[in-house]
Amino acid sequence: MNPSPPLDLAEILLLAVAAVVAALAARWWWRRVWTPGRGLRTAIRGLADGRAPDAAPLLAVKGPWRAVAGDLARAGERVRGMVSQLDDETLNLRTILESLTEGVLIVDTAQVVHSANTPLERMFELKSPPLGRSVLEIFRDGELRAAIAKAITGEPTIREITLETRGPDGRYAPKHFDLATVGLRPAGAERPVGAIAVFHDISALKALESVRREFVANVSHELRTPMSIINGYLETLLDAGALDDRALTVKALTVMQKHGQRLNLLVEDLLTISTFEHGRAALHVEPVPLLVCLRKVVDRLEPAIAEKRARVDLAVDAGVTIEADANRLDQVFFNLLENALKYGPTEGLSVRVTAVAGPDQVSITVEDNGPGIAASDRVHIFERFYRVHKDRSRDAGGTGLGLSIVKHIVQAHGGHVTVESKLGRGSAFQVHLPARAAVARDIPQ
Ligand code: ADP
Repeated sequence: MNPSPPLDLAEILLLAVAAVVAALAARWWWRRVWTPGRGLRTAIRGLADGRAPDAAPLLAVKGPWRAVAGDLARAGERVRGMVSQLDDETLNLRTILESLTEGVLIVDTAQVVHSANTPLERMFELKSPPLGRSVLEIFRDGELRAAIAKAITGEPTIREITLETRGPDGRYAPKHFDLATVGLRPAGAERPVGAIAVFHDISALKALESVRREFVANVSHELRTPMSIINGYLETLLDAGALDDRALTVKALTVMQKHGQRLNLLVEDLLTISTFEHGRAALHVEPVPLLVCLRKVVDRLEPAIAEKRARVDLAVDAGVTIEADANRLDQVFFNLLENALKYGPTEGLSVRVTAVAGPDQVSITVEDNGPGIAASDRVHIFERFYRVHKDRSRDAGGTGLGLSIVKHIVQAHGGHVTVESKLGRGSAFQVHLPARAAVARDIPQ
């Protein structure tokens, strides 16, 4: 084989130039095509995964990818804007859900909880988060399950529902809710992909309704008895010849007068209660010398004291003055002393009133040695119309509202009233009024 002839200078130069050109071309390709191309691929992959690429390196791209990189940077900006808008909207939605007083539950078609707001967790005292658990497992209620199932089939419901809920003490009690369920159907979907259930707790409203109903029933009952007695005697008197019977006429009129007064008393007590319960009672606060107030009350009760041959002892320092509404304070002690006389024995009844004026409050005690009140009744006696012995109270002219009025008046003065009692031994009612309403001064006798 012949050895190849040596290259001449021109050929060597040509090869060298070609090598330099190839190297420059390779460098250009590497810097302007390969490297930015790889960067673009990474950015596009990130975008596909929901990550918006940084705009700065893309805008720095030169060469053939420049336009593509510019478009990608703009797309990244759009995605970033949309993600932040979505974040804002999600946050707004979450804030709205959390600030509602209603409990909100979002479930899928299998009734598995996907989301629940804090008011719902609080409403039902849920021990563990409800997410991932089924509606039946959490609430154990077929009616609720049926309402949500209906919503999932595209039929919204609004109904009242009663659910057993755990209270803060861990005990279960029924709670009443207005429940609204509606299907969740994203735009374009043929069927709901889940449902939203909104719980509005109406237990307090229900309780109020029942108190109102009970109150109306009680008032009607209290009014009916004296009214039917009055009507009965009126009919008797209107019977032929009855008016000529003087003894019968006097008896009828006496009974009618008694029951007329009873009706009057009842209406007055009801008006007083209503004034306090609606917060409309205006108190004319002035310094009231306690002993003077008590003496006036005792004077008014003199006939009852005489009838019971009771001993009433006012062991109160003449210097104790209370800043209160004089007429209302009078009503408080009238009711307490009248009760002691009404329910006390005819022989040997003793009633004692004492007062202790401390730096923070003044406490006035009305104590009797009457029949006492059982513990089971003590917790109720300040409720409207609660009586230990209904007939005894009515016979004694009671309306069942006396202690409720006492409680309201004392509370309106910023105080409270308590009772201690032993069955068969007597009762002690204590009126506690705050010091700002109680000042000790020397009152001239
Ligand atoms: P009433 O008009 O029936 O007296 P109150 O509200 O004043 O209504 O009292 C409620 C009930 O509390 C009474 O019916 C009575 O049974 C009981 N009670 C109140 N004061 C006394 C007392 N000093 N001794 C025994 N029982 C009392």
